[in-house]
Amino acid sequence: MTIAATGWLDVSVTVRHGMPHWPDNPPVILERAMDIERGDACNVSHLAMGVHSGTHMDGPVHFIAGAHGLDEMPLAATMGVARVIEISDAHEITVEELRSHDLQAGERVLFRTSNSTRCWRTPTFVEDFVAISEPAAVHLAETGVQTVGVDYLSVAGYYADGVKIHRILLDAGIWIIEGLDLSSAPAGQYELICLPVKLHNSDGAPARAILRPLPEASGTW
Ligand SMILES: [Zn+2]
Repeated sequence: MTIAATGWLDVSVTVRHGMPHWPDNPPVILERAMDIERGDACNVSHLAMGVHSGTHMDGPVHFIAGAHGLDEMPLAATMGVARVIEISDAHEITVEELRSHDLQAGERVLFRTSNSTRCWRTPTFVEDFVAISEPAAVHLAETGVQTVGVDYLSVAGYYADGVKIHRILLDAGIWIIEGLDLSSAPAGQYELICLPVKLHNSDGAPARAILRPLPEASGTW
């Protein structure tokens, strides 16, 4: 049997040894513990990383003690119709720009900023990435979107109040995808599949995220 996988865009970043990560988080270590080139019978890799590295999701327990881990996430949070919104502001995702997109309750929204073509092309952590402002986070919470995705390592800017902005979103029950690379996905309607690795009670988990373009008319989620 062949599986038709045409039309899907991979919007995840590749996990690599030494890849950039949030400054105070653990590094990404990916190396061969057993290696055919060293005479071992097979290749076996050893992986050690912070769970907020690369393309990943945040669970409520990331900032809320005793809250759900990602292993308890309903699969509908990240499987279904999603809208990629192109953010024109080069510095921040503002509430004014979000209002112009008429967000709906229950929507899955992914923000494509200049980060996708800029930040993932550099080997070091980028501090001035585009992130969600506090008023924009409040707007997302009040609208009641289901899932929010951003194209660098945090929903909140490096110099912003990251605790507050994460909590506004997580307290509202919004599921958060971080570290997407949306450079291949222009604004529009897509089918989204993003599945975080099932880590017990996890505040974060690496994820593979893929998108398939939908005709403009299919607007149910
Ligand atoms: Zn995270």
